[in-house]
Amino acid sequence: MNNEINKINIKYIKGVGEKRLTLLNKLGIYNFSDLIEYYPRDYEDRSVVTKISNIISGQNTLIKAKVLTPVNNRYIRKNLTIQTVIVKDETGECEITWFNQNYLPKFLKMGYEYYFYGKADVRYGRRSMKSPQYEIYKEGKEGGGILPIYKLTKNLSQNILRNIMKNALEIPAIPENLPEYIIENNKLGNRYNCIKEIHFPRNFNFLDKARYRLIFEELFFMQCALLYMKNTNNISYGSKCIKDNSIDEIIQNLPFKLTNAQIKVIKEIEKDMESDISMNRLLQGDVGSGKTIVSIIAAYKAVKSGFQAAIMVPTAILATQHLESFKNELEKYNFNIKMLKSKMKKKEKNEILEDLKNGKIDIIIGTHALIEENVNFKNLGLVVTDEQHRFGVNQREKIVSKGNNPNMIVMSATPIPRTLALILYGDLDISIIDELPKNRLPIKTTYALYKQEEIINKFVMQELNKGRQAFVVCPLVEEQEEDNGLRSVEEVYEIYKDNFKTKNVAYIHGKMKEDEKNNIMEDFLNKKIDILIATTVIEVGIDVPNSNIMIIENAERFGLSQLHQLRGRVGRGKYQSYCILKINSANNLTKERIKIMCSTTDGFVISEKDLELRGSGDFFGTKQHGIPDFKIANLFEDVKILKQVQKLAKDILAKDPKLEKEENLKIKQKVEEMINTVL
Ligand code: ADP
Ligand code: MG
Repeated sequence: MNNEINKINIKYIKGVGEKRLTLLNKLGIYNFSDLIEYYPRDYEDRSVVTKISNIISGQNTLIKAKVLTPVNNRYIRKNLTIQTVIVKDETGECEITWFNQNYLPKFLKMGYEYYFYGKADVRYGRRSMKSPQYEIYKEGKEGGGILPIYKLTKNLSQNILRNIMKNALEIPAIPENLPEYIIENNKLGNRYNCIKEIHFPRNFNFLDKARYRLIFEELFFMQCALLYMKNTNNISYGSKCIKDNSIDEIIQNLPFKLTNAQIKVIKEIEKDMESDISMNRLLQGDVGSGKTIVSIIAAYKAVKSGFQAAIMVPTAILATQHLESFKNELEKYNFNIKMLKSKMKKKEKNEILEDLKNGKIDIIIGTHALIEENVNFKNLGLVVTDEQHRFGVNQREKIVSKGNNPNMIVMSATPIPRTLALILYGDLDISIIDELPKNRLPIKTTYALYKQEEIINKFVMQELNKGRQAFVVCPLVEEQEEDNGLRSVEEVYEIYKDNFKTKNVAYIHGKMKEDEKNNIMEDFLNKKIDILIATTVIEVGIDVPNSNIMIIENAERFGLSQLHQLRGRVGRGKYQSYCILKINSANNLTKERIKIMCSTTDGFVISEKDLELRGSGDFFGTKQHGIPDFKIANLFEDVKILKQVQKLAKDILAKDPKLEKEENLKIKQKVEEMINTVL
């Protein structure tokens, strides 16, 4: 569909040409559909003319006025000239100023009426405007309408892009991409009209209608694509596990009682594993909710059914820790559990690779090393990826392809609202652990300014003297040339060594060698280190129950979800835990975020706030959450439409799982196109 209109070469659209094509490319516009779907980020309302006597300071205003004086063009200094004119309507006069518009006298003629649009200013009763846009008034043409404001790039002005867009929209080539019945049932406008209205709306009513339709379309196709993928690619048969009560035994032998949420999730997983169809499940649960034990139980079931299991984690430290946990629970059943990472002795590694291939190893826990080509399994029946936001879909697929349609669990500690989960992980089934183990004392969170450091240190000392340990997280590894007020690991290490002379202080960061890092983590676990200074390498999954203090330096530099993850490193043992957010000074956003951190420990609430505060347009923020980039929809503002299309997409794909019905062919076409390009 879009393929058809993309035969139009945008270089030949009036106003484009070779040079401007390069500029359009910079905006991500390569073909016709990119162009027409380059939606305005805002609008200028030039539909209402304001009388000069009514203009208000600071507001974008449209006036219609006659030029009273010739343009006064003054040379100030090199590269600076100023042009002024006085204009007048029936209510008053206004002085208008431009800068460096030397050609202005040619265009702006005394005695003629023009529209001027720009920011107005009123001071001591004198009205003025700076650098407004202008257009000569012609009889019968009232106001300038509502004009689009696009995100621009250097050398491409608003007016040029508006003109290009106007010319493009005159080529009546934009076909409908939704089936007739969906348009009718949901009272949507026709696509060509809506695209015209979104760029050059006739009024705000039409604009709203157009926006609705285009948001609807965008979210609908995204949801359909995910469900379609789930129905087509993801249905695979294999790795069926034995139906029995074997997991009851391991559950009875655990050192703690599982939470109801854990039991519910384990049941869902068990059912999936016993079915003919391989499992594709997202396991979501806040930090500390006990996801690891769920994966241990799933691995147990897989091995009992004659399969091998692979657990993939993002860091070697985490792999080491998981190895411990798995061994603790499973070695008593004579399972062979090993670890694989990039940096290992060759002989040891080869042995592991050999034993994976011949099936001697039951469970392998590893880093990215697991997806390397030389890793082969005899009978891989379960793949678990932990802290999944660190892995791409490709990596997930690579490890899955090493088995014969193994069961898959994707674990994520980034709790997201269910509606969002449906759009991020629509191709997976979702299980949620929405409950923390009962024995936990909620972490106490506070913030402190740097000038209060002494009080904090005193408090930390008291806890250390009781035998506890502390984490200190910094935003940087090394000290930077310029003084940007940010504390580095190196710097903080010196400070803490100085302030805690009787204690053992050490540091760890991502640039260190693997062995070095592991040794330090081990020393910390064995209480040989009292204070561990770190970067966010410790954000992921590590468990040190004796450590009850988390200090975050320059807390204003971290995202909310990240702070939450970091805080989740403490509060795992039997002691009261503390999280101290240290900040330099607080602007409003920082204050807001700190307030949220201090008032809740609910990861779902925090992630929702995080997304809200960052705004979904924030590229960095959304990328971190793996949220796809939308052209017009905003997942947080458009929740109502999102829910509506989710229901619709679900119904359609339930009745027509592979979109083969005549009436749904248009959806299929678009969805295939998306899967081949975007997803
Ligand atoms: P996460 O979900 O963040 O990966 P973990 O699986 O690391 O959390 O669990 C955190 C800690 O809680 C571990 O020490 C684990 O042994 C413990 N734990 C897990 N489930 C329970 C439970 N039901 N009761 C008590 N402690 C539990
Ligand atoms: Mg974990």
